[in-house]
Amino acid sequence: LLEEALRDEEQGEYQLYNNQLERVVTSLPAGVQPRAFTPAQRQALMQAIAQSNSGSLRLGLSFVVWQKLDRFDGLLLRIHTLREGLQGDFGTISIVIALLWLLFTTMVLISWVVIRRMVRNMSEMQSSLQWQAWHDPLTRLSNRGGLFEQAKKLTAYSQQTGEPIAVIQIDLDHFKQVNDRHGHQAGDRVLTHVARLISNTLRADDVAGRVGGEEFCVIIPNATLAQAAEIAERIRTRIAAKEILLPKGRTLRITASLGVSSGVVDDRVNFELLQSIADNRLYHAKRSGRNQVCASGEYQGSPSQ
Ligand code: GH3
Ligand code: MG
Ligand code: MG
Repeated sequence: LLEEALRDEEQGEYQLYNNQLERVVTSLPAGVQPRAFTPAQRQALMQAIAQSNSGSLRLGLSFVVWQKLDRFDGLLLRIHTLREGLQGDFGTISIVIALLWLLFTTMVLISWVVIRRMVRNMSEMQSSLQWQAWHDPLTRLSNRGGLFEQAKKLTAYSQQTGEPIAVIQIDLDHFKQVNDRHGHQAGDRVLTHVARLISNTLRADDVAGRVGGEEFCVIIPNATLAQAAEIAERIRTRIAAKEILLPKGRTLRITASLGVSSGVVDDRVNFELLQSIADNRLYHAKRSGRNQVCASGEYQGSPSQ
């Protein structure tokens, strides 16, 4: 058997043992020290051999295959190291499969990372586009479309509860002169300041939007005409009192005219009607000398206050 094993040029080492598990002979050339087992490895091997006539076992970095012999009261062991195992056909296939598996896993991981990043970018882009669609980039207030969207919700709520809803239309006075005297950039700065003043005067449930060049609209849920006029007056005084700092240390003051309306939304009263009443009152305030709030008159007989 050992001669056959040597002829086949199989890798690894063959050892022949007697029934006492004492080594009789080895396939190694004379002078080469045969591989020996530690007492623990020997114990494990004896237990495995007692259970089966043939089998295999990993002992440390070596693989041991044993076979009990028919015509000899002993057994044949073939020992080969992990490195020898990998050099054979089976080892090559195992390495190729392991590499393919590694490649596949890496590609799956990379795809997962790329897809996750793409999904995150897309949702960020979507929310940014959504924000841009409903907001004015200069003042960061809602734009006309955004304001109308929010007005829809607030008027539906007013209709359900029977609570009044108030609208304040605001237009800056002689704003064209600001642009003409100080430049467009200074005009933009004034618009940002006014927008911030308006937002800071409102409560969390109120909605403010920039509905035109230097025109703003505020919607106040659950506010009577008197309450809304009070808020409008607060906005007017704050705007008039603010000294706005321009580049190169220059300052300017601006005033605004405001129109107010309020009503309970029903079949005849809707947001558009309330806004047009507030608009008419705004132009009444302009005609009466600007820098004032108008909360009455015009639209006699209208269902709103
Ligand atoms: P009034 O008191 O009657 O409202 O006078 P006004 O000058 O404010 O009114 P008008 O409507 O004649 O002028 C509005 C000006 O607002 C004209 C335009 O140049 C300016 N404007 C509109 N949008 C912007 C903007 O985004 N930035 C700047 N800087 N100016 C703007
Ligand atoms: Mg205007
Ligand atoms: Mg104006």
